[in-house]
Amino acid sequence: MDFVFTKEEEKVISEVREFIKKESTPELLKETHELERIYGGKLGREFIKKFAANGWLCPNWPEEYGGLNMSEMLTYMIKDEMTYSGIPHSYVAAHYAGATIMKYASDEIKEEFLLPISKGEIEFALGYSEPSAGSDLLGLELRAEDKGDYYLVNGQKTFNTHAHVADYHWLAARTKFDGPKHKGLSMFIVDLDSPGITIRPMISIADSRTNEVYYDNVKVPKKRLVGEENMGFLYLMKALDYERMFPFGHYRKLFEHLLEYVKETIVDGEPIAKNPLIRQKVAQLATELEAAKLLYYSLSYMLDKGKIPNYQASMEKTFVCDLSQKLAQTGMEILGQAGQLTSDSKWAAISGEFEYYYRWVIVETIYGGTNEIQKNIMAQRGLGLPRA
Ligand SMILES: Cc1cc2nc3c(=O)[nH]c(=O)nc-3n(C[C@H](O)[C@H](O)[C@H](O)COP(=O)(O)OP(=O)(O)OC[C@H]3O[C@@H](n4cnc5c(N)ncnc54)[C@H](O)[C@@H]3O)c2cc1C
Repeated sequence: MDFVFTKEEEKVISEVREFIKKESTPELLKETHELERIYGGKLGREFIKKFAANGWLCPNWPEEYGGLNMSEMLTYMIKDEMTYSGIPHSYVAAHYAGATIMKYASDEIKEEFLLPISKGEIEFALGYSEPSAGSDLLGLELRAEDKGDYYLVNGQKTFNTHAHVADYHWLAARTKFDGPKHKGLSMFIVDLDSPGITIRPMISIADSRTNEVYYDNVKVPKKRLVGEENMGFLYLMKALDYERMFPFGHYRKLFEHLLEYVKETIVDGEPIAKNPLIRQKVAQLATELEAAKLLYYSLSYMLDKGKIPNYQASMEKTFVCDLSQKLAQTGMEILGQAGQLTSDSKWAAISGEFEYYYRWVIVETIYGGTNEIQKNIMAQRGLGLPRA
């Protein structure tokens, strides 16, 4: 593996950094934090359209679809910059669904959606989980019945995070009701303002919003079927591989803030940076962040070689999620009681960041598939162990 970036990649990355520095205002960062870093706020939408106009949302896409025809490595470096700087960075359409559309969808869907996606004009919400199907998506029950020129959709989704701000639902539905479960699912792109759709909030432990989405006799035009009917499980799994390649610049930033705190804080006349226990802990975190970076780069390297990482993406996501929990825990130990205060308290250490992330890291460990599920994937597909 050779992680020397090309001159062109270096140039784009420095332009991206400059742009973010110039365009990201405190108001945008506040809105982004409140929306858990997803697209959807007024300022976020304005920002991302300007950002995407440079081809930076999907730089790996062909130029005809608004990309720069550049490497996956560059795409992943940009995503890392986005997470690091606190601007909206989680893009269902551009980063998870887009590649699946490009590979499997009809020309009509490609023409309608790919350019608006890469320009940051529209966003999707992931519509997989249901009350009785999370880890095991083969349990999906939401039904889409073929009625001639449309599908009639009925059922319930749960934990559909962007649904209240997105324009379209990237929906997994059952279209065949007997036979093997994995041969009975299909993917659809559904307008979220279709008659019969109701969206209700669910609030997570980190105060972030996700949603229940109800379908009551919703008519979805046939042309919105992605690829072939009953092949949806394959498409969904591919999109999940992309979701599990986890950028983690926000944790690099959090670590830097902890390091500054450790260097600047004096207790009993001594900087706490001299405390051997604290030095051990931050050195360990720095080592693991470096390892996470290499895992992350190796995924984009694989993509550039034409392979979609599968169990390798699970390894990276699990490693990063475990590391984020360790970082949050260590921060809390070092900051003591001031670390437990929320950002609105004047006594809060590091502006309450650790109080927030201590809760948020749990959320990230669950969505996109829990750590236990990722480890099952590694055991089965990576190590060749039998299915549990
Ligand atoms: C904040 C948040 C946002 C989310 N956003 C979205 C979204 O936008 N779209 C979407 O479709 N979904 C979303 N999800 C859903 C998420 O993908 C599921 O919650 C997750 O996959 C777990 O499914 P579950 O909640 O049904 O738990 P379950 O599947 O019931 O699992 C419960 C526990 O059992 C463990 N477990 C289950 N099966 C096994 C097994 N075979 N081996 C070992 N352990 C196992 C799990 O690891 C977990 O600890 C989100 C979830 C959260 C919390």
